Formats: sequence, C-alpha cells, structure tokens
Amino acid sequence: MIQALEAKGPALWDICIIGGGATGLGVAVDAASRGFSTLLLEGLDFAKGTSSRATKLVHGGVRYLQQGNIKLVTEALHERGILRKNAPHLVKNMSFIVPNYKWWEGPFYGIGLKVYDWMAGDLGLGKSRLLSREETLELAPTLDGEGLRGGVLYHDGQFDDARLAIHLAMTAANQGAVLLNYYRVDRLVKEEGRVAGVVATDGISGKTYTINARVVINATGVFTDSILRMDDADSEPVIAPSQGVHIMLDKDFLPGDAAILVPHTDDGRVLFAVPWHDKIIIGTTDTPVDSVEIEPRALPEEVDFILKQIGRYLRRVPQPSDIRSVYAGLRPLVKSSSKRTAELARDHLILVAESGLVTITGGKWTTYRRMAEDTVNTAIEKAGLPKRDCVTADLPIHGSPGVEQDDAAWNQPLHYYGTDAAAVRAIVNAHPLLGEKIHHRLPYLRAEIVWAAREELAMTVDDALSRRTRSLLLDAQAAIDAAPLVAALLAEELGRDRAWQDRQVEEFKEIAKGYLVQKT
Ligand SMILES: Cc1cc2nc3c(=O)[nH]c(=O)nc-3n(C[C@H](O)[C@H](O)[C@H](O)COP(=O)(O)OP(=O)(O)OC[C@H]3O[C@@H](n4cnc5c(N)ncnc54)[C@H](O)[C@@H]3O)c2cc1C
Repeated sequence: MIQALEAKGPALWDICIIGGGATGLGVAVDAASRGFSTLLLEGLDFAKGTSSRATKLVHGGVRYLQQGNIKLVTEALHERGILRKNAPHLVKNMSFIVPNYKWWEGPFYGIGLKVYDWMAGDLGLGKSRLLSREETLELAPTLDGEGLRGGVLYHDGQFDDARLAIHLAMTAANQGAVLLNYYRVDRLVKEEGRVAGVVATDGISGKTYTINARVVINATGVFTDSILRMDDADSEPVIAPSQGVHIMLDKDFLPGDAAILVPHTDDGRVLFAVPWHDKIIIGTTDTPVDSVEIEPRALPEEVDFILKQIGRYLRRVPQPSDIRSVYAGLRPLVKSSSKRTAELARDHLILVAESGLVTITGGKWTTYRRMAEDTVNTAIEKAGLPKRDCVTADLPIHGSPGVEQDDAAWNQPLHYYGTDAAAVRAIVNAHPLLGEKIHHRLPYLRAEIVWAAREELAMTVDDALSRRTRSLLLDAQAAIDAAPLVAALLAEELGRDRAWQDRQVEEFKEIAKGYLVQKT
C-alpha cells in the first residue's frame, strides 16, 4: 500500500475504484489479479463505512431462506465456502443454536436448516441437528430454561470484517494495485461526455490530483448516489439506506463457543447473539433512514429493542449499564418500490451509465468476491479492456496459512494476523515494552498499533482503535482511555508532534461518544 501518488502509477490507469469498503476492495483484488493496473481511492479509511459495522457473519442468510430467496442463499453459501478456503485465518466455523420453546419450532427450523445444509453441498461447514433440552443448555447454559423444549444446531461462518478488509487491501497491493486511504474523490473528469478519470484530494496533505482511467468504478456503498450525481446531477437515487445496530456485552452473558439465533423478533426479523473476540455481539435492527452519515448513531429505541428481544431468551436480562459498546451501520440496500426495507433483498446491482461510469452496490460482505467478479467482467466489456479470466476463487487472501485452523490455532494470541503474526511478535521481541496491552480491558498489544502504522496504513487514532484493532467496538470506554497512549505510539511511528496527538485524542473521543450507552 503506497501513498505517494505523484511518484507512483501510470499516466492512465486501467481501472480506478472509488470506495475502500468490502465492495471496492474486492474489485481491487479482482482487477489487480487479472493484471489490470488498478488504483483504489478511499475518502476516509478502509472499511470506515458499513464494512466495519456488520454482524460479522459469513453466511448464506437463514433469514433469506425464510423469505424463499433460494438464489441468493445458494450463491452466498458458495461464497462462504470459497472465503473460508482462501482466508482460513479469518473465517471461523461457528455453531448456532435456535432455541425452541414451542412444540412446532424443532421440526420447523430443523427441516429449514437441513435445506440450508443441503444447499451448501460440498462447501458445508457441518450438519445441522436437533438438540434435546439438556444438550441445548449444555451448549448455552445462560439460556432461559423455563419452557425450553430443545434446540436446533447449525453451522455458519464468522469473521472480523475490518481485519478482512485490511487483508483484502494487502492482497490487492500484493497483486500490484495501489490503494490510498484518505483520498476523497471530489468530482469526475469527463471527455466528450465519457468519464475519463477523477479529481481527488489527499486529506492528509491537502493536495489535489487529476487521475486518468479507462474505467471508473463507483463502489461507495450508501454514498453511491453522491457519485452518481457527480456524473449526472439529475440521476435518480438507487439506495434506500437502512440502519442496523449492535450492542456488545461481556462474554459471561453467553459463555461457551456457540451463538444464538432468535428466529422471530417483534418486527419479524432474526436476531443474533454471537461470541466475538471474547465478547458477545447482539443485533441487529432494521430502521429506514433518510440521510447517510459516516458515523451513524444508534437510536435509544433500537438499543431498547435489542435488550428486550434478547432478554426474553437469557436467564440474566442485560441492562443498558451492561453494554460495553453500541455501534450502528447503514445497509446499502437497493431501492425498490416496497416501503419496508426488511423485504428488500440483499442482492447486488451493477449499473453502467451513458458516460461509462460503472456502479456496483447492494450485496453483502459474504458475496463481495462474486460482486467483484461481475463488476470487473462488466468493466472489461464496457471499457474494451482485454478479456482476462477471474482468478479470485483460488487466490489466497493475505495472511492465509493455507490450511484450516483448529481450535488451538483460533485460541492463539494474534491469530487474526495469520502469517503476519510472526512479524508482530518480532516487534515485541525487539522492544519488550511493546508487548504490554494498550488497556487492561482490551486484548490488544502496543506492538499491534506500531504494526498498524508501519504496515497497514493506520493514519489516525480512530483507524488504530476502530478497525486495525476492534477496541472501540469491544469496549468504548476502554478505547477512550487508551487513546492518549495510542496517539503517542502512532506519533512516534508517523513523525507527528504533541499538538497532533492532542487533536487526535479529541477527535477520537468525539467519535467514541456515539458508542457509549448512558448508564442508568
Ligand atoms: C448492521 C449491518 C450488519 C451486516 N451484517 C452482515 C453480515 O453479518 N454478513 C454480511 O455478509 N454482510 C453484512 N452486512 C452487509 C455488509 O456489511 C455490506 O453489504 C458491505 O459492508 C457494504 O460494503 P461497501 O463497500 O459497499 O460499502 P462501505 O463499506 O460503506 O464502503 C464505501 C466506502 O466508500 C467511501 N467513499 C464514499 N464516498 C467517497 C468519495 N467521494 N471518495 C472516496 N471514497 C468514498 C466511504 O468512505 C466508504 O469507506 C451488514 C450490514 C449492516 C449495515
């Protein structure tokens, strides 16, 4: 990942991608691995938008199965298998339990999940099965036992979204792409009505660059419409954003390795409670919103809703004061005539404007690779690039150890770096003080901040605490407390002064406030 644009790159890129979330990063990996000269411009940080705010599931989508969206589920299950093969250090096989309190739930969900197994075919992660009441409570001892009849156990994938994003960026860079964070696209360059490039500003130096490309790809998630309007001021909006909120609780609310799926919430959706980095993520909601923000804030009623729904299933009902962090994300749902965003499919949409601008939007993290393949195929056709086959189905993702990880590997410290873990450990060996944690309630080492600044383009305290480590999501107050130390570590690496550190801490606190829940 190289930042000095002036010194780097051709006068005319084959492909310029706007947006460094799951979608744009996937396109960068695909394009670069087909041998196209590829530039990706991210206005803020990689995965700063929706792509760091997911439920962290690599899944076919049990909910879409309920809706009968067979095509979407089959495709997602296929992609789940490919991602697990190519990033075994990042995609974990997780057991999910659907607790049954009514007589019909066992057979009903049992049959549905058998269909889910069958659809995954050879890429399945394990067979689903019915559980007795005793087995259910053994796997999830904090479930409310009153009226519990049993459960259904099934398997799905789980991952760390921002970590995968960084490893995709590194994969693309390894394939020859140039990826720049803090480069905002301000406008499109047009020649005789055709999009011929972009004008972008480096948010760190303030310099502006004109970049020429054979094809420009708009991969800006919920910001898709803002780029479409740069192309055509009258373009119709295609995105219907919908907010989803998660809360983070301590692990003792759901000890053990299994996750819980609540199959039917009051608003007719599903709710997950999933172990993640020794905490429990619970979510999500589906709240249509009118405006798109880079730091969306959870509404108090969304937090109440989650607490109420999960509270029905747990012996100890979580209170607002138990919440370590709350985060919100915006789904880039493709607009339809339906008013209820819960009914819109998570399918992706590729648009090609008269100007040649290619837009890819919708979809989900799980299907990012397939979305990228379709997008680059379209770009090749529309921009007259040489035809080359997609190779990403068999392309290991940066850090891949090449073999499936057993439980012992998942329990290793620094496991989420994959093959980079040795290099992070080498930093500790060279400077043992960097082997200390950044905060006693967070699992991360000081060396990880140094690594993030040196190798992963972390530029700000927010980059380091929100996405290179997941501190802000795991424990917002601990992240705030760790911010001065993290600012000092970054300043040392990036050559910044004391005033920069102070500003960084203040800016981070402002962001982190939105992740704190008022203690009652
Ligand atoms: C609550 C929630 C839970 C989810 N859970 C899951 C899940 O468990 N599993 C799953 O598979 N999917 C999940 N998804 C879906 C998945 O997270 C999204 O589909 C995916 O992250 C969208 O990625 P994206 O790259 O399209 O958008 P984004 O991640 O938002 O990326 C767009 C990027 O474009 C950048 N940008 C915008 N304007 C400009 C500009 N002018 N110049 C340069 N850059 C610009 C932004 O800064 C941003 O980083 C979830 C989504 C939500 C909201």
